[in-house]
Order: sequence, then C-alpha cells, then structure tokens
Amino acid sequence: MDRWVRSLRPPKTLVTPDRPIAAVHEQERRLDGGLVEVSTVFLAGSECPFSCVFCDLWRQTLASPTQPGSLPRQLECALIEVPHRSVIKLYNASNFFDPIAVPTDDDQELLRLLSGFSQVTVECHPRFIGARCFAFAERLAGRLEVAVGLETAHPEALSRLNKKMTLDDFNAATGELLARRVGVRVFILLGCPFIAAGEQLDWTLRSVEYAARRGAGVISIIPVRGGNGALESLAADGAWSLVSLDLVEETFERALRLGLENTIVQVDLWELDRLASCGHCVNARLARLGAMNRTGVLLAQTTCTRCGVGTERNRS
Ligand code: SF4
Ligand SMILES: [Zn+2]
Repeated sequence: MDRWVRSLRPPKTLVTPDRPIAAVHEQERRLDGGLVEVSTVFLAGSECPFSCVFCDLWRQTLASPTQPGSLPRQLECALIEVPHRSVIKLYNASNFFDPIAVPTDDDQELLRLLSGFSQVTVECHPRFIGARCFAFAERLAGRLEVAVGLETAHPEALSRLNKKMTLDDFNAATGELLARRVGVRVFILLGCPFIAAGEQLDWTLRSVEYAARRGAGVISIIPVRGGNGALESLAADGAWSLVSLDLVEETFERALRLGLENTIVQVDLWELDRLASCGHCVNARLARLGAMNRTGVLLAQTTCTRCGVGTERNRS
C-alpha cells in the first residue's frame, strides 16, 4: 500500500532547510469565549514515514532526514515575526517526536526558544507519542498540546486509510497525554475515503463526538482536498469524492449544534475556496465560517442571487 500511494504522488514543492515554509498569525476561540493570539509556524523537515491515502503534507518536505540544528534555526527566524508570546503551533508535516523529522538533540534548544509561550502545539502520530513526548511536556515552560489525526471513527474506513492506527491506538495515546495534563487537539476528515458520500456528514459528526468523549480540547474538521494522486485513483474507483462547500457548511453547523461543553470545534479553511462552485459568494461564505470558528456561534447563512445558496435551501 505504501508503495502504491507513493508511486502516484506528483513532484514535491521545493523547500529549503534554512528557513520556515511560512507562518500565519490569527485568533482562536477559547472555551471561556475569549480569543487567544495564535501563530502557526510551518517548519521544513523530512517527510512522515507513513503514507496515508488522503495526505498531501509530504508536498512541502525535504527529501532527506532533518539535520540537527535546522529546526531551531528556522524557529528562531520565525519568532522574529511572531507578534506575541501566547500560543504557537509548530507544524512540520510529520511527527514532532520522530527523531528523523525532529532530531532529539534539538529538544533542548527548541525548549529554550519556546520558553516564553503559554502553550505550544505540535502534531504527532500515536506511534511516536511516548517517553520523548512526555519528557518534552515536562520540560516545557508552558503547556504542551499534541495534535493527533483521528481522521474517522469509522473503524473499517480507518483501517483502509493506511494510517497504521486503530481506534484503540488513538484511545491509548490520547489517554496517556491527558493523564500527563498534555492537551489533545484532534483532526477529523470530512470527505474521508471509503465512506459513502451520503454518510460523510453523519460519520464526521460521530467522529467529532467520539473525540470529544475522549477528552479532545479542540477538534478541527478537515475537508479532504484532492491532488495527491492516490485520491484521484480512489475517485476513479468510486471510493472517494470531493465534498462540496455546502456540505462543509452543513457539517460545521451541525457540529456546533452538538453543543459540546468542553471541546471547541473548528473547520479548517485551508484552500477551501477550491470546493466552491460559485465565485460570487465564496468569499462571504468563507468569511462566515471564519467568524463561526472565532465565536462558536451559528451565523445566518450567506445568500447569493447568482447560485441561489441560502435562498433555495431551508435548513433549520
Ligand atoms: S500520519 Fe499524518 S503526516 Fe503522516 S502520512 Fe498520515 S496524515 Fe500525513
Ligand atoms: Zn453564489
């Protein structure tokens, strides 16, 4: 399966180990309703050893293992532009506690550079959540949060994603994190391969509830984007299809209506404009989703005279 997924990949984008790929600064909702300043730094490192069929994160990774010293240099460079010292996310398109992606010898310097932040979020597959992660959390001045991809609570679909993770693996890893007071952020797919189009909404909501029951503090719904080769092949076999912006909106509305008390639910807006079929209303619809991310409040649906959105549909 790994070989099949990798053989279909288009060429990578060129990245350099000398500087971070990008950094974005935004505000994120907290459970008390307040907003917190969050900076996300996208680090250039080696690619993830897994080959999930839906993943396109490898596009912006190096062809070789991350060299010691590279990530601290990138972080130091990114911090010059970070306008606050509250929450920082370090996303390296792999697993933060995989020594090939983040050399263990760099932990000390990374901890020093991160010492001013109240919270640090990193991403990691359950297989790399262990002693190094727990030691990092203990030595970190602020709170550590680990983002874990549950992807779906549909057991059969999960087993076919080539994620090499079961629901039990997810439960064990997140349970260990929470027992050590490490926060858990969870990624859940909308448009998950191997789930019928008519069941996508239902399974995304079930997965949100599943992660919330297991203590996720934040859940991010990720609409699956095409373009990694494997998804296009699955689409040709009827095993995957791109979701619509309509479905993203409806799923997010329904997720907010779940009224989860201890979990913030967001939708990932990255490249979401690709799902829109009407250029006239897309910006307003994305702005509405962004505002719902920041407030957790259901806002009135966008209306568009060009495509009829919000005028034909009547969602309660
Ligand atoms: S574990 Fe995460 S980064 Fe690695 S291939 Fe799967 S989705 Fe991509
Ligand atoms: Zn429109």
